Amino acid sequence: MGSGALCDLSCNLRMTNEAIPNLTAFDEASLGQAFAALESQARGEAAALSSPEVVEAFRLRWLGRKQGRLNEVSSRWLKAAPPEAKKPVGEHFKSLKELVENLLDQASGLGPSDAALAAETIDITLPGTTRLAGAEHPITRTMNEIVQVFAGLGYSVGVGPEVETDFYNFESMNFPPGHPARDTQDTLVIAGQERRPLRERLLLRTHTSPVQMRTMEQQPPPVRIVIPGKVHRNDAADATHSPIFHQVEGLCVDANVTFSDLKGTLDHAMKALFGSSVKTRFFPSFFPFTEPSADVQISCIFCGGKGCRKCKQSGWIELLGCGMVDPAVFAFAAEKQPAYDPKKISGFAFGMGVERIAMMKYGVSEIGQFFAGDMRFLGQFA
Ligand SMILES: [Zn+2]
Repeated sequence: MGSGALCDLSCNLRMTNEAIPNLTAFDEASLGQAFAALESQARGEAAALSSPEVVEAFRLRWLGRKQGRLNEVSSRWLKAAPPEAKKPVGEHFKSLKELVENLLDQASGLGPSDAALAAETIDITLPGTTRLAGAEHPITRTMNEIVQVFAGLGYSVGVGPEVETDFYNFESMNFPPGHPARDTQDTLVIAGQERRPLRERLLLRTHTSPVQMRTMEQQPPPVRIVIPGKVHRNDAADATHSPIFHQVEGLCVDANVTFSDLKGTLDHAMKALFGSSVKTRFFPSFFPFTEPSADVQISCIFCGGKGCRKCKQSGWIELLGCGMVDPAVFAFAAEKQPAYDPKKISGFAFGMGVERIAMMKYGVSEIGQFFAGDMRFLGQFA
């Protein structure tokens, strides 16, 4: 509240104000005269109200509970009135109060003072504050694109924890304890787990494969899922390696699923991702959880297969791993879901690195750029 405005008003009022006099006569003429004087005083003051601050001062002066003029009128006139004059004094008092309240109602419609408005002035021609609209991270976008391709083939999406047990990450995926294949995935383990049995020890999952086992334990075949997710390995960072990266894995289990189903599925998926002219070819490989296993190459998307620097003149780029689900993996699933009997069902699995595909699609040469949080880099994908 502007104290200057208050003082202006109260100083003014003090000059024109007279204390409420004591009434000596209570006949109708005297009462009418005395109340008319107060009414004209209130009207005069109300006409000069020019800001919310002085309106409030006016309200306090007349209606204030302790020092208000109406309170004073009540205690001096109403209480002093002889019994026969109480009623007319009360009626005059009531109409004076209504007048003051009406004047206040009218005055409170006043806007803020010119000075207050000037202090709050903003230049509406100034440019506004720009807020950046968010956009999908290129990794998220690539992962969603891959998932969409398989969603179109009837696959659903599976997710699982990033902190996994040794059982789900390794043992159930057919990496027995002490098996050398474990050394190919440098693992970040959670500290202080030495007293637990090996299969219960916690680690950061090195692949999204644990979700395959968790899904099979939850539901009998048929299963068709893709598993997008973050994985961790104790890799030294370089242009193409990062201790954190993303995979999309897939699992298809049903009666009579064959290797040619696997080839047809991945050939379709690569054409959907990179264009219909892309070719695929399969090479024998090894993964503990598939048998037989294969590496998949696609014809170079940069040179169309003629040979260039990107494909080291070979015309082909290695992109993913796959294979028929190893019966040993089904045996682990069958512990909880007997329907995973390798004599009755079969299936295939595949996995691909999201960063590698994103780097190819967007021409990124350093994997670390995806995680550096540099807006100059990320802004290019918005
Ligand atoms: Zn090439």
